[in-house]
Amino acid sequence: MASVSLSSLGNSLGIMRMKAALKDATGFFQEGPEQLEQVKSLVEEELKSDPSLKDVKVVFAPGTSGAYDPRTDTIYLGVINPAVLAHEIGHAKNIRGTSIYRNLLRAGGLANTVSATMALPTTLALRAFMEDRKKRNEILNVLTTLTAVSAAPTLSEELSASMDAVRHSDSKLQAVKSLLPAYLSYLGTTAIPIGIYQYLGKQ
Ligand SMILES: [Zn+2]
Repeated sequence: MASVSLSSLGNSLGIMRMKAALKDATGFFQEGPEQLEQVKSLVEEELKSDPSLKDVKVVFAPGTSGAYDPRTDTIYLGVINPAVLAHEIGHAKNIRGTSIYRNLLRAGGLANTVSATMALPTTLALRAFMEDRKKRNEILNVLTTLTAVSAAPTLSEELSASMDAVRHSDSKLQAVKSLLPAYLSYLGTTAIPIGIYQYLGKQ
C-alpha cells in the first residue's frame, strides 16, 4: 500500500488524495466538506506544535477505522474523521521514539490476550480440581490483579490518545461519539476475564 506523509494532509492536494482513497469508506460523521477542512486544520495545528510529526506516514486503509503502528511510525486511516485521525496522532506523539513505553504496551497487550483466552478454562479447572475454597479464591484474586495490572498501560494510552483528540476537535461531542465505542471495547476486553475470575470462579 502506498503511503503519504502526515504533512501532506495539511494541504489541499493531500486532502484530495485522502478523499479519493476513502470515498467508499463508511464511518460516522463523514458527510460534509467540513470534515475535510477539519482534517486539514488539525494536521496544520499538530505540525505547528510538533514539527517532527511531518515524518509520520499515513496509509489509507478503507474498511478499518484507524490504527497507529509504532514499528513503522505509520497511521492507518480508514475513515475521513478528524477525531479518529487526532486519536492516532495522539498515539504517535506518545509512543514514537520511546521504546520502553512501547515494550510495556506490547507486554501488557500480550498478557491481556492470554488472559482473555485462558480465563474461562483456568477458572473451570480451578473449580473442578481445587477443593479448598479459600486457596481457590486467593488464586482468583491474584489472577484478577494480574489482568488489571497488565491492562493498565493499554487503557491509559487509549484514554490519553482520545483525550488528546477531544482537545484538538472543533466538535467535542462528535469526537466523543466517534471515540467512545472503541474505548469501551478495550475496557470490555479487561472486564470479561475479571468477571469470569470473580463471579464464575467464586460461585
Ligand atoms: Zn487507540
